[in-house]
Amino acid sequence: MQTKLPVQLIKTPQGQKADNILRSCVHCGFCSASCPTYQLFGNELDSPRGRIYLIKSALENNEFTQNSLQHLDRCLTCRACETSCPSGVKYGQLVDIGRELVEQKRPLWQKIARSSVRKFLTSPVLFNFFGSVAKHSSIQTPSIAQKGNKGRILLLTGCVQPTLTPNTNHAAKNVLATLGYEVIETTQSECCGAIDQHASAHKNALIKIKRNLDQWLTLLESGLDTIISTASGCGAMVKDYPTFFEPEDIYYQKAVSVAAKTKDIAEFLLAQDLSILSTEKTRISYHAPCSLQHGQKLPNLVEGLLDKLGYELIPITDAHLCCGSAGTYSIFQPDISKQLRERKLKHLTQSQPDLIVTSNIGCQMHLSKGSKVPVKHWIELLDC
Ligand code: SF4
Ligand code: SF4
Repeated sequence: MQTKLPVQLIKTPQGQKADNILRSCVHCGFCSASCPTYQLFGNELDSPRGRIYLIKSALENNEFTQNSLQHLDRCLTCRACETSCPSGVKYGQLVDIGRELVEQKRPLWQKIARSSVRKFLTSPVLFNFFGSVAKHSSIQTPSIAQKGNKGRILLLTGCVQPTLTPNTNHAAKNVLATLGYEVIETTQSECCGAIDQHASAHKNALIKIKRNLDQWLTLLESGLDTIISTASGCGAMVKDYPTFFEPEDIYYQKAVSVAAKTKDIAEFLLAQDLSILSTEKTRISYHAPCSLQHGQKLPNLVEGLLDKLGYELIPITDAHLCCGSAGTYSIFQPDISKQLRERKLKHLTQSQPDLIVTSNIGCQMHLSKGSKVPVKHWIELLDC
């Protein structure tokens, strides 16, 4: 795609990055078929290619309207378009740049609403008090003592997960202790920054990212081997930390080191001898979060692990499509989010599973609101 970004903009790191991404798009449209919003609306402006043109126009001519804002807001940032793009267009990074620009057009009441939701979700004191009414599950099993001394792990606690689904990290700690690992947890206030980033509060996200890098690197230097995430949305964000810095920035190398040590818990367990774990055989439907299959580029990761452990996995139609949760999307785009959930649940339950499992707190909470079948994090299956 040819571009004519203003010279002043091209001189900035963001402008240069946007220009490179725009030029990599050959406007073939192969991405449209995998885009959930294009499937729903059939409107080019709700497709990845249409949104790329909107961002290009905003960057080149400073031309953007309320309409542009609406079409960018409807994007789930699921990054399914990245998976299906033959040219490797980094759409997720481009849409972040575009959103920052069109944010100026957002009505004041929307800015206040988005800021309030962001602050509520990332403030442990506030969220623990009010969020506990939406609690999805409690701790189900006793804590297990560490069996052996295979290494030390930093577990990312997450900001909303400890309140809403405390059993997820509890189960992860029990499984890791059974395998012989010592687990150190981050604090709840060490949010990865994804909620701010997705709400276009990039400065707030960057403050959190830098703080986390400083704290986690100190811990890694004290002898921790690996950072593990049980929420694929947080894992995707942390693995993307290097993209927030220019190579000459002192935080760039820190981000590269932290990202290289970060693993989704399924990635970590796949490399372990799991014969010591006991499992209960149930028929399950697995929902692969976009942040795992498209964000972290790890398709079929959990499916492979559960299959290896002997679970009966039901094949899912359109497994590549988003469930509609998408961070704060379900709060700000409730109608689209609900339509996507209904379609996803229809596919997940078509063969009457005993249980639906997933890898991300957002998907788990969102799906469980519309499901008669229980929805869990898959790691809970291994803590029995
Ligand atoms: S993003 Fe990729 S798939 Fe979509 S139009 Fe551009 S080059 Fe084609
Ligand atoms: S990120 Fe998802 S919703 Fe947004 S354009 Fe890409 S496929 Fe469509």
